[in-house]
Amino acid sequence: RYSRIGFVGLGNMGGHMAKNLLKKSYKLTVYDLNKSAVTNLVEAGANSAPNVAEMSKEVEVVISMLPSNQHVLDIYTGENGVLSAAKKNVLLIDSSTVDPSVSQSVASQAQKHNLRFIDSPVSGGVNAAKDGTLTFMVGGSSTDFDHAQSVLEAMGSRVVYCGDVGMGQAAKLCNNMLLAISMIGTAEAFNLGQKLGLDAKVLANIINSSSGRCWSSDLYNPVPGILPNVPSSKNYEGGFGTTLMAKDLGLAQSAAIRTQTPIPLGSLAHQIYRAIIAHGFSNKDFSVVYQFLKESAS
Ligand code: NAD
Repeated sequence: RYSRIGFVGLGNMGGHMAKNLLKKSYKLTVYDLNKSAVTNLVEAGANSAPNVAEMSKEVEVVISMLPSNQHVLDIYTGENGVLSAAKKNVLLIDSSTVDPSVSQSVASQAQKHNLRFIDSPVSGGVNAAKDGTLTFMVGGSSTDFDHAQSVLEAMGSRVVYCGDVGMGQAAKLCNNMLLAISMIGTAEAFNLGQKLGLDAKVLANIINSSSGRCWSSDLYNPVPGILPNVPSSKNYEGGFGTTLMAKDLGLAQSAAIRTQTPIPLGSLAHQIYRAIIAHGFSNKDFSVVYQFLKESAS
């Protein structure tokens, strides 16, 4: 089992993930641009490094949880990045959500430095990060997957092997694209039903025992008051933000362009979420699309 881990990116997700590693007795060296995020981890028992190269020198595993493509490229392949400093054979695990081609590019550069790279994006939000119940979708060699498993299990409850490098990201972006489409569809159906005079609870009852049923209608209904403990019943607070959904749809869009794959509904979903953000709903859960459609119609 590995014992020394470097962790970069201690934000909403990474901060909790790093703390869960400390709880499982891993020796952690952390780095983040944000000093207070670092202090928080040092108080929980981590060492801090002055930069990412210093962080990478002494560890057996590096984990990153960064906002998007460019941050990941910079941290790994930039001057004084992880690749320039890590010892031979170190296992690099990127859990950020990025374009699969970014994971593939970092992996091939890592190989030239005799380093091993896997992509391992997560599903589950901040609460799952805190509770250590994330799902990791892993792309890389099966040997590297086996070696990463116990470290990932310290932060999550499910670790799924998806194939070669980039396939974790591919799985994540396909799932989230479908989630966006089904959420928008659910919101449309419930908005129309109510415009026709139908009670939303009656409609939910029908849909959830009929062929229109989906996760968004059954377990995360976007109409306030149908389910008590979902964001729609709490003024769309918490949950999975529209900005993160728009980001993931943007990744799906560029992947579709690169592979010349038609995603008519995915593209439309991307535009709808961008319009929702422009409408002022950037801090709301993505089920706010129901509210958006309702307001657009009035
Ligand atoms: P965040 O913005 O809260 O955290 C990112 C952290 O990275 C920040 O602390 C920032 O200071 C740090 N950082 C940025 N550039 C850096 C650099 N060059 N060097 C060192 N540190 C740097 O983001 P988050 O919500 O924790 O999300 C991280 C990733 O996880 C994203 O890719 C996101 O899409 C994905 N994700 C998020 C959620 C969620 O619910 N928040 C769910 C699933 C997946």
